[in-house]
Formats: sequence, C-alpha cells, structure tokens
Amino acid sequence: MNVKSSLWLVLCIALVGLAVGCKKKEPAPVPAAAAPAPEFPWQIDQFADLRILRYQVPGFEALTPAQKELIYYLSEAATCGRDIIFDENYKYNLKIRRTLDAIVQGYKGDRTDPRWAEFMIYAKRVWFSNGIHHHYSNDKFLPGFDVDYFAALVKGSQGVSFPISEKQSVDDLVAFLCPILFDPDVAPKKVSQDSTKDLVTNSAVNFYDGVTQADVEAYYKRIVDPKDQTPISYGLNSRLVKRDGLIVEQVASINGLYGPAIAKIVYWLEKAAGVAENEQQKNVIDALIAYYKSGDLKQFDAYNILWVGDLSSLVDFVNGFIEVYNDPLGLKASWESVVNFKDLAATKRADIISANAQWFEDHSPVDPKYKKKEVKGVSAKVITAAMLGGDCYPSTPIGINLPNANWIRKDYGSKSVTIENITYAYDQSSLKSPFGPEFTYSAELLERAKKYGPLAGNIHTDLHEVLGHGSGQLMPGVGSESLKNYHSAIEESRADLFALYYIMDDKMVELGLLPNIDAAKAEYDLDIRNGLMTQLTRIQPGKTIEEAHMRARAMVAQWVYDKGKAENVIERVTKDGKTYFIVNDYAKLRRLFGQLLAEVQRITSEGDYEGAKTLMETYGVQVDQGLHKEVLERYAKLNLAPYAGFVNPVYTPVIENGKIVDVKISLEEGYIEQMLRYGRDYSFLPVR
Ligand code: ZN
Repeated sequence: MNVKSSLWLVLCIALVGLAVGCKKKEPAPVPAAAAPAPEFPWQIDQFADLRILRYQVPGFEALTPAQKELIYYLSEAATCGRDIIFDENYKYNLKIRRTLDAIVQGYKGDRTDPRWAEFMIYAKRVWFSNGIHHHYSNDKFLPGFDVDYFAALVKGSQGVSFPISEKQSVDDLVAFLCPILFDPDVAPKKVSQDSTKDLVTNSAVNFYDGVTQADVEAYYKRIVDPKDQTPISYGLNSRLVKRDGLIVEQVASINGLYGPAIAKIVYWLEKAAGVAENEQQKNVIDALIAYYKSGDLKQFDAYNILWVGDLSSLVDFVNGFIEVYNDPLGLKASWESVVNFKDLAATKRADIISANAQWFEDHSPVDPKYKKKEVKGVSAKVITAAMLGGDCYPSTPIGINLPNANWIRKDYGSKSVTIENITYAYDQSSLKSPFGPEFTYSAELLERAKKYGPLAGNIHTDLHEVLGHGSGQLMPGVGSESLKNYHSAIEESRADLFALYYIMDDKMVELGLLPNIDAAKAEYDLDIRNGLMTQLTRIQPGKTIEEAHMRARAMVAQWVYDKGKAENVIERVTKDGKTYFIVNDYAKLRRLFGQLLAEVQRITSEGDYEGAKTLMETYGVQVDQGLHKEVLERYAKLNLAPYAGFVNPVYTPVIENGKIVDVKISLEEGYIEQMLRYGRDYSFLPVR
C-alpha cells in the first residue's frame, strides 16, 4: 500500500518553512562564498494542473563507493521498466509516446506558434501520467490543438523515426492515432469505478484483452483455492486475454510478457547482487531475479519474505509488479520501483515513538477495556529516495507499506517507510506559495506555522502510522468488516485523533520530539483549518465528501468545532469578507480530541455500525455550500497547480581500470531533457 502525494499534502505543507531540527536536510552550504548561495530550484516547471519539482538526495555523498555503486545499478533497473507502465496503463500509450517524442525532437516548423505551446503541454502531460489518462482522476485528457495541426506536426518532423512499419506511411499513423487522442468517447477512463457497468470492458487499462468482467471472475474462481492459508497473489503479474475463444494468462517474465524490458531489469539486478551490502541482501536480489526469470508468483512470495526480513541493510528498494490500484478488479499490479537508503537520524525519531508505544497506549483517554494489554513495537523507518521509476515516477508516494500479501504481513511482518526527502522537497517548493497567507488569519499564526509546521507534520504522521492504527483492540466477535462502508473513514479518524491527542502532550517535549508546545499549536491550527475549510478545494461544487481520509478530517474538525461552541474553543471569524477559523483554547481543544478518540475507539471496538454512521453522516460528509463557494473562489485566484511530480537525479559512474570507483550525482537535468533521454535510452518494448 502506498500513500500518494495528494493535494491534501500540498495544502497541509503550503504553509511551511525551515524545519526545526531538520538541518541535516538543508542543501550543503557553499564554502567561503562571497555572495549568498543561490537558492535551490525546487520547482522547475508548471503546466495544466501539474508542477514539476526536484528532490535532493542528502547523505548520498557520504555513502561508501560500494553503496553508491549498488544504488547506481538499482537505479538503472528502476528506469528499465518505464515502458511497462506505459503499456499497462493503455495499449497504445507506447505508440503515442514515441510519436510525441519524435515530434518534440524533429519538428522543423514554427515553434513560436501558440499551438506548439499547446502541443508541448500535451506531451508533458502524457509523460507525467505515463499515458493519456490523468494520473489521479483517471480521465482521458484531450489535446489543446486540433487534428489538422497534429497531422502538420507529424509531417513537419524530420530526422526522426515514427512508430510505423515499413509498409505504413505517417498518414496511416495520424489516421490511427486521431480518434485515440481527440475523440472523448474512445477509452475515456483508465479505471472505471462504475459497478453498474462491466468494470473490465469500461476500463482502458491493458490488464485485460477481449475478456469481460464475468470472464475474469470465472477464470480466477476456477483456479483460486479458498482454503489455501498461504495463497499466491493470483493474476498479479499477468494479462488475461481471449484468443480464438480461449482465455489465457500472459505472464510477465524474462521470456514472456514484457520480456525485453525485464531482461534489462535482470541485467542490472545481477550487477546489483554482485555488490550487495551483505549476504541477506544478496539473497533478496537473487530471489527477485529468480522470480523475474520464471514469472512464478510462489517465487515472488519467497522474495517478499526475504525482503521483509532484511532490516539491517542501509540501501533498500522496491522493483516489480506491486500495487493493484490501477486494476478495477484489484488483481493486477502496476510496475514500479523506488531505490532508497535509510535516513538514520530521522529513523531515530520513529524509533523513540515505537519504543514508548506501551506508555502511549496505557495513558490514552479510551476505556481500559478497549486498550491493548501488550503493544507490539511497530518497525518503521524514514528513507531517502534515490531513484523513482514506473508507477512511482514522476508522481510519487510519500509513504510505503509492503508487502501486500496478508498472510506474509501476518506471519513475517511488513516494512513501513516514510520518504522524507520527497516531503521536504514539497515543503520547500511551497515556501512562497500564496496559499498560506490566503487562508491564515494573522501574520503571527503564519509565522508560527512556517516555523513549526513541517516538524509537527512529521511527528503527526509518525504518531498516526506507528501508533494510531495499531492502538486499541476489538471486543470478542467483532471483525473489522462490522463498520462496512464507514470502516476506512472511522479508522483514519481514530489514527488521526490518537496523533492529535498526543502531539499536545508534555511527553513530546520530554522525549525530545518537539521543542515546545507551540509546535503542537501550529499542528492544531493547520488541522482545524484543513478539516473545516481548505480541504474543500478538492471537492467539486455541489458534491459531498467521499474520500475516507477527507471524511475523517472533516468529521474530527466539525465535531470539535460543534462541541466547543458554547465555550468558543474554535471561532469562525470574517475579515475583509473572508472566512477564517481560529483556535482560542488549545487545552480545551485537546480535551475534545481525547473525548472523540474515546468515542471513536468505542465504536471501533464494539463494531457499532449505527454509531459510525451517525458520526460520519452528521459531521464528515456534508459541505457548507456558502463556505465551499467562497473557498473555491479564493483558491482559483491563487492559480496553483494541485499535483506535483519529480525529475530524478542523474547518476554517473566514475570508472578506473574498468571498475566503478565512485558514482557522481547531478541534479541539473530538466524535465523535457529527462523524458527524451529516458525515451531514447530505455525503450525496450515493441509497439503495436
Ligand atoms: Zn492512516
């Protein structure tokens, strides 16, 4: 599972400054510079609803040459799967991408034409989404230029090759691609969620070909053994196709589906195995290679068990068919990769929280019968991303928890990570954002948010992930399915409330996690403002709140606002015609969070469906129409792009006598440059 960077994150961190205690993450100072160091260009591009950012890789220089070499090989393996994600997202994405790449490089016509600017926006969006559908909404986006101009671009490009066979002309290519690019009714949705229609045939994803939803369900029903206690992840790495009336699974492997790309991945993984940090890590990489060679999902499980047990290596990575969010049936995984190494200093923070888990459980305001007698420490680490690939590039998660197989999680555990250099890049790029000033009541509050927001945000996330979700216990006979459609939102509110209750505790300062109580106040300001007001920027006019995390935040904020009204704990004020929410009494607000935590824990422990429904429907779903309209208008004026993604660093090996003796990192490559280079050097799959 992963936590994708969302608009929520962007909103939450739009108000930030240099983090206290985060010195380690600042750019290296320029020695003896007479002029002030030039500012690091965190944001390098903005178009449509997207921003392109850079991330730094602090600590890379301090790694050993062998660790750098390992990261270099794993980074190559991460980039070699790029074609796979394009093809998985839609069957003609590779053909489209290669056509766009050829035009960008070869068009000899007028590049000052406003239509050219529209074309470039379209190409940049396709690169960003790994295809022609929006990476977040899954809707197909349409070009801002017309069919004739597209034909002129193809014909006006010279010295480049288009993805056509010898018998075809560029006219054939244009004729073929026009409906795909320009007709809104062709492949309108990457992943359909409309369960009243066939989810498979109405989704453009390329996990299925010629089969219906009923075909797929029948196929897997036939081969899945429901009594198997350690089932493989059926269908995870394959495409299900119907050929001559027969349904067959095309399995990804070095000699099967995606073979040419997987062969390159394996090539680099073999090199990585040769410079592994230790025997255990070598075994992990060898197991992954074996699985890529066979495509056998039993070997994938064996790899995962080894991987989850490797806690001592500094360098770590994900590489494979992992997350199933892009399959409407939740079976088939998108290819992704993240190469990373442990941020030792920041991991200490998570360790401190984890080591005190029992104290937090014992002192929580919930009824003792709903508390865990014995809390198991949760292992969590903070990592620095070194390379993003596949479905994690350019849009990347900020936290990952793997593996996904339930029985492996239960029997062998899971690894939970937060990617701090990515979060830091978001923070830094938002420093000058007009968002904070627009929605913050006073300069003082803004200053406090800038000073403490990022640190407090990290602690809130740690408390939520490391303790919140794992706290409490269910009464005998109560299962997690008892709360049905309210389960996710209640669960998220429970973890959030645990974090909110404790972030204001003296224990935080005592453990050295926060410098003072002002940091906790900054977090309260942000959460109240977000839950009551600013997260509404993500909701379309007239719609209600649906997403679980958003419902949780709305419910918590609305509940404490309502219950604290008599004592004016939170006040709604209007200044110059604009609405703000300010906290008047932080101690009382903390007590309200505690009361609500106790109630939400009771609902969870008892499986009280009616209680969950009442709480959510009263406070978490409905939107104040007048306030919503105002917030949307204020937000629109700011001209912000709600989604962001990243360019990768470039790693260059230093070779002496045929051996890699060092690896240099460069953060200078531009977005277009990087996309064209990847297209040139990492295109391994044939086009249809
Ligand atoms: Zn959560």
